[in-house]
Amino acid sequence: MEKLTLHNTLTRKKELFVPIHKDHVGMYVCGPTVYGNAHLGHARPAITFDLLFRYLLHIGYKVRYVRNITDVGHLVNDADEGEDKVAKKAKVEELEPMEIVQIYTNSYRKNMGQLNVLPPSIEPTASGHIIEQIEAVKKMLEAGFAYETNGSVYFDVEAYAKKHPYGILSGRKIEDLYTNTRDLDGQNEKRSGLDFALWKNALPEHIMRWPSPWGNGFPGWHTECTSMSTKYLGETFDIHGGGLDLLFPHHEAEVAQGVACFGHATVNYWVHNNMITINGQKMGKSLGNFIQLDEFFTGKHPLLEKAYDPMTIRFFMLQAHYRSPLDFSNEALQAAEKGFERLMNAMELLKNLKTADTSTLDVEKLKRNCYDALNDDLNSPILVAHLFDGAKMINSVNDGNMTITAADLAKLQQLYTGLVQDVLGLQPSGDSQENGNGELFGKMVELLLTLRQEAKAKKDWSTSDQIRDRLTALGFEIKDTKEGADWKLKN
Ligand code: ZN
Repeated sequence: MEKLTLHNTLTRKKELFVPIHKDHVGMYVCGPTVYGNAHLGHARPAITFDLLFRYLLHIGYKVRYVRNITDVGHLVNDADEGEDKVAKKAKVEELEPMEIVQIYTNSYRKNMGQLNVLPPSIEPTASGHIIEQIEAVKKMLEAGFAYETNGSVYFDVEAYAKKHPYGILSGRKIEDLYTNTRDLDGQNEKRSGLDFALWKNALPEHIMRWPSPWGNGFPGWHTECTSMSTKYLGETFDIHGGGLDLLFPHHEAEVAQGVACFGHATVNYWVHNNMITINGQKMGKSLGNFIQLDEFFTGKHPLLEKAYDPMTIRFFMLQAHYRSPLDFSNEALQAAEKGFERLMNAMELLKNLKTADTSTLDVEKLKRNCYDALNDDLNSPILVAHLFDGAKMINSVNDGNMTITAADLAKLQQLYTGLVQDVLGLQPSGDSQENGNGELFGKMVELLLTLRQEAKAKKDWSTSDQIRDRLTALGFEIKDTKEGADWKLKN
């Protein structure tokens, strides 16, 4: 079997990956909080851990991949105050919280399918694991690492830090954390600003609530991942992944909760993907650059010059190493688009290359280079560079400047199918699971709206109304503007 090394955030080193159970791997990745459409920020962890999942399968492991859906307990504010993100959205949209959850879970899954991200083996929801979370909170109380106040239970960081190091994952020192935490105003139920909620008492207006030994309430956000990862993968499992933005406090809390519940660390390898910037800027609500995946696929966002195929987005992400920051811009995406085409053209040529009695290219060496890159902490950009080298050779054989034997051609075909399709998950644009024709689709809607404008100009109200009504019935939201009409897909 190939020898894979992974950078472990906990030890800050690349380590040889050795699973606990020989050829079975347990992997947990923090999934989305489902209260809005998936945007670019969701795509990077999904694609990063899809690459890891696919590569582990490719080199012969059986993998149980658990990626959760956060549908309760993720408050707007990390300081354990404010509303639940799902409940808040439900209020705004005048829907049941579980309707919000369903809408955005469906839309997340649709987008992941478009990006050719494989579904995980288990996709548990926080609201479906309330009992397990209550049990975990009880364990932490019994261990003396939690306390109850007014129907809420908090993790006692100070008590924990007396026995175990706190901050080891993010590399933060507890003294610094204390100085950086705001002084409590006395109103707060927490003993210290570092403590975090395991269970929150539900105020009367709070709609998502469950009975517990501490009264009606709901779980804190960090609790679900400890409960669900260990439920499905065991008290100690191989890999825990997520975005760097989750490192603190979320994953740091998970490390401490694991030790508090089981008396030992629950995760062997912590793996984190780096963040995305857009035109050099951090993504932020106030900056208006939270570009949704649907907007990329249709080109409907002021920052986008055109629509981008899901495969372009995927290829672009894989052209960067997952631990490096990645900046999105129209120029960079268009370069990725060209590169992707070059790779797909080579794949196409590979199907019908003419063979000869001798090979003037070294397939074995190319193969070794490709696997060495993947084994080196999933170095996908280096892998892609080698695949491009191979593409040059394929072109040379096609042009008659190089030769290949039938046996070498078979090996080369196997190498490209295995790495490009199975591991990198890249396929010709039209083949993506759902509409890969986002740009064409957008143009068609624009065309209908132009026809409607023309009907209006001729005072042909019945035609213009019919176009609007029929588009609305198909699930489009049409808004009339000064320039004509604007459209978007209803969720
Ligand atoms: Zn999590």
